[in-house]
Amino acid sequence: MTHLLILLISALYGVLLGNYLTTAYHRIPLTKPINGIFKNKGIKPHCSVCEHELKYWEYFPVFSWIFSKQRCNYCGVKVDKIYTVLEVSMMLISISLFAFMGMNLQYVFLTLFMSTVVLLIALYAVYRRFYFKSVCFVVISAALYIVGAYDFT
Ligand SMILES: [Zn+2]
Repeated sequence: MTHLLILLISALYGVLLGNYLTTAYHRIPLTKPINGIFKNKGIKPHCSVCEHELKYWEYFPVFSWIFSKQRCNYCGVKVDKIYTVLEVSMMLISISLFAFMGMNLQYVFLTLFMSTVVLLIALYAVYRRFYFKSVCFVVISAALYIVGAYDFT
């Protein structure tokens, strides 16, 4: 039972990261701020077409997808499938990493690392944008991880 609960937490962690990736995926090419949940800071989650500000249940992963039927509740535009792909892929990556290494700091780090990799792949695949500094960050982080520079004990 405890193992199942931790697995669900892992799935939730992954899908929340994936949900945040959708914001970064949409806003980075437009050079918009990628924060905005808190009042008076950044840009709040909104429809990319009609700009209507979303309520929290309208951008909560999976539930928003189910209840809105993949459409904006205000203008009716269909939500891009890449958002679902990002959320589900991060959920699967998170569950897989948890299955291999258990719940520890290394798991948290690798899941965050993989979210950056997934974001960079999506940005390149869809927009054909190559973010050199971010790719350097990923490569250097991976190299440091491989040589054991990070101490997770
Ligand atoms: Zn809309």
